Amino acid sequence: MVLVTAPSGRPVMDPSRLSERRRRALSERVPLRPMTSEYKEQALQRFDSVESELRQISRWMFDHPELGYQEFESSRRLVDFLRSRGFEVEYPAYGMETAFAARTGTTGPEVVICAEYDALPEIGHACGHNLIATAAVGAGHVLSGFAGELGIKVTVLGTPAEEQLGGKIDLIEAGAFSGAAAALMVHPATKDVLDPRALAVVHLDLEYHGKAAHAAATPQVGINALDAFVQAYVNVATLRQHFYPTDKVHCIITRGGTAPNIIPDYTRSSWYIRAATMERLDQLSGKVSACFEAAATATGCTWDTRQLGQPYAELISHPLLSELFDENARALGRQMMRGSDLPPGEAGSTDMGNVSQVVPSLHPMLDIHSLPAVNHQAEFAAHTITPAGEQAIRDGALGMAWTVIDLAEQDLWDGLRPGTS
Ligand SMILES: [Zn+2]
Ligand SMILES: [Zn+2]
Repeated sequence: MVLVTAPSGRPVMDPSRLSERRRRALSERVPLRPMTSEYKEQALQRFDSVESELRQISRWMFDHPELGYQEFESSRRLVDFLRSRGFEVEYPAYGMETAFAARTGTTGPEVVICAEYDALPEIGHACGHNLIATAAVGAGHVLSGFAGELGIKVTVLGTPAEEQLGGKIDLIEAGAFSGAAAALMVHPATKDVLDPRALAVVHLDLEYHGKAAHAAATPQVGINALDAFVQAYVNVATLRQHFYPTDKVHCIITRGGTAPNIIPDYTRSSWYIRAATMERLDQLSGKVSACFEAAATATGCTWDTRQLGQPYAELISHPLLSELFDENARALGRQMMRGSDLPPGEAGSTDMGNVSQVVPSLHPMLDIHSLPAVNHQAEFAAHTITPAGEQAIRDGALGMAWTVIDLAEQDLWDGLRPGTS
């Protein structure tokens, strides 16, 4: 038996330094066996053998960011890696050109490891999905070495278009998660957070239709669709006083008129509405909708909204998966915070939320030491190719692989939600 130590060289947190609250929380957890698995040692060696290749793929993705559902080259490179390591790969998969399912292992519970690889317009991999993708294929490769011996099936699932269009929601509906006992992924961030909050969100376009006219000579016959937008924006800004900290509404103008001397007869804006739960999202959407309608009434415009994709649900991190990952992350030198330790409003959204509603899921955030740069800034993208950024590939891959090894070796499948294993 081999004792696993932190390969990063960072000190493993001494339990005596934990706060009383933290110690109490730990003592209430499921007792775990010490981390002495030979499979975990093998996992380290298997990861070491591909680490430089994974970094190259991540750096290639950094240099060639592709938007949601256009991730043709990124998905192909990930598929090439997995095929060359003996995975059976379905690509394209589930009716999506840039989705893939790479499978290994023939019997036992199925673990799905999610790879995201879409980027953001103009700021590239500013959410670090190049690290998510390479950590996922790294974990898959590691586990493929002994999936048969562990009696598990491993699927690395390529999940397109996380940033806006919710590829995972289409994948759920197409059955990609129907046999899964657990679904795992990691996400780069500015903190190590075991079970982050992620808000429910709906994405929609708002349109106002008015009437064009000469803006100086005959404005009295015009109906101003830009006024309607501005009124809607101000109505929502007024509503904000009554928001919960987890209610978020934000927008951009995508069509604001054509020329200053023409009364705009059409405007379009793109809005995200977020809330702690789907239930609250429904309530908040009703209030925001009233703001939109009031602006139409005030200006004489007509209006409509068009929803983009399906709403993302709030994220539920499965306690057992979190527990196991926490221990493994500590062995890798990461001291994970709990989502509940953060201000409630410090949260984004993810289509992994929808997965977590149907399959026991894990979605920890891994610190890439980018501060003051934060997610969705170009500077954050630059940090994904630094040593601290690339450490997240290693810690993400090994943290997930070791968590799956714990599930299999300790036969903890019953601890996952009934009916899914
Ligand atoms: Zn992201
Ligand atoms: Zn993002």
